Amino acid sequence: MHELSLAEHALAIIEETARREGFTRVHRVRVEVGRLSHVEPDALRFAFSAVCVGSCADGAVLEIIDIPGEGECPQCRTRSPMDAEPAWCPRCESSPLRVVGGTRMAVRDVFVDDAGVGAERP
Ligand SMILES: [Zn+2]
Repeated sequence: MHELSLAEHALAIIEETARREGFTRVHRVRVEVGRLSHVEPDALRFAFSAVCVGSCADGAVLEIIDIPGEGECPQCRTRSPMDAEPAWCPRCESSPLRVVGGTRMAVRDVFVDDAGVGAERP
């Protein structure tokens, strides 16, 4: 199950952030989920609450931010939003777009009380 490994990965980032920032309790976690990432939000929420049991994020609310997909035309290099694959270039209509964005899930913020702590990685 795709969502389970993503949830485990998210928890690893959260725990690392908690260690670095010195907090023990996480109330809310904001993640970005690309529309082309094949992540099912409900499945992700379920997996996340399951892997967080006993951790610093046990019971934390998972806030999911929807990130639009983006594609680039290999012929004319036009970039356009895309929500599903395949999608055709809206300009030259000659090629399926190559996916360039919206394929990932990333932990954006970890909230301890009301203050957000950035969890972005280089
Ligand atoms: Zn094109």
